[in-house]
Amino acid sequence: MATIKKLRLKSSVSHALKKIFIIILILLIGYLFYSYQISIFTKLDYTNQSSTFILFNDLKDYILTIGKNDTLNAAFSSENYREEYLEKYQDIKYFDQSNFIKNINTLLDKGYSVNDINMIFEHGNNEEVTDFAKREKVKYLEEFYSVPYAKLKNYDRYLAYSNETGEDEETTVLIVNMDLDKEDYTDYKNVTEFSIDMLVNKHRKLSDKYVPSDLVDIPTPYASTEGLQSSKIALNAFKKMYDAALKDGYGLVINSAYRSYQDQQEVCDTYKDLYGESYVTRYVAQPGFSEHQTGLSFDIGSTTSNIFIQSKEYDWMQENAYKYGFILRFPKKYASVTGFREEPWHYRYVGVKISTYMHNNSMSFEEYYAMFLDD
Ligand code: ZN
Repeated sequence: MATIKKLRLKSSVSHALKKIFIIILILLIGYLFYSYQISIFTKLDYTNQSSTFILFNDLKDYILTIGKNDTLNAAFSSENYREEYLEKYQDIKYFDQSNFIKNINTLLDKGYSVNDINMIFEHGNNEEVTDFAKREKVKYLEEFYSVPYAKLKNYDRYLAYSNETGEDEETTVLIVNMDLDKEDYTDYKNVTEFSIDMLVNKHRKLSDKYVPSDLVDIPTPYASTEGLQSSKIALNAFKKMYDAALKDGYGLVINSAYRSYQDQQEVCDTYKDLYGESYVTRYVAQPGFSEHQTGLSFDIGSTTSNIFIQSKEYDWMQENAYKYGFILRFPKKYASVTGFREEPWHYRYVGVKISTYMHNNSMSFEEYYAMFLDD
């Protein structure tokens, strides 16, 4: 009797264990299958969250025909995902912006095409696109934004300028990007990033506190007088140019270089006393708006002639300065762009890459900046 009972007990225990084992096995197989499915999509660079979304929303076959798609990945992980826009998301180029999917939705709601939206994101950052998405659908999107360096934030200014002047889109974009639709010294930008390619002009101001971090004294014979200073990187480039000129039989000299905000104020005051206010407004940069404050500008003279434009050094500089990273900053032909009449002596260090490009393509620094550097 006792033995049979024992056996029965034993068999019911093993029966229960078997059941548990089968359940665990089913769960394990299920888990492995699920992990395998997820891994199909993570291998295509979808995040775990997006991969789960794909599985649970029956998008498996759809995604398998498309493959990797960064915009869809962002959409599937976003709380702003809208099912009706699935196929539109697919054709929109991915941009790493925090309101990306939300802005796409808003722009699609406003009736922009996928091509329009790709163009919009190309020309603005997250904040600019967000602002743009809020406004009514614009009329001349493609006209202005076919120009590669057009800025989303400038749309109204482009429209106003082209309406006013009848200029074509490309010219309009360039002129507005250079702020030439604004009066000198009004509504200017404050320059807050400092590098050899910074732009300071009548629309871009340095603070009265700005002093170049690598300011050095310029020794003679490079400087015509003692006490001149400049940025070290610009001076080193000048020394190379000076040596090359000397080797060819030309004598260069620096007559003016770094000028502080206060120095420039004094220059303005002096000229005002001599020639009056309108002269100063036209020909002398206001404090903060002078390139000399960058420490990257040199007024260059010749050791052989008092009138630089008539000297052989002037010609040598025209031919060779760009090889050392210098550009003639205010040539006659760009006076309407730079806002300064011809200054044959005023050279600016921008580095060899930019000076060479500008030399080969014959353009002002304002144009170069508007096309390649401004953000
Ligand atoms: Zn100068």
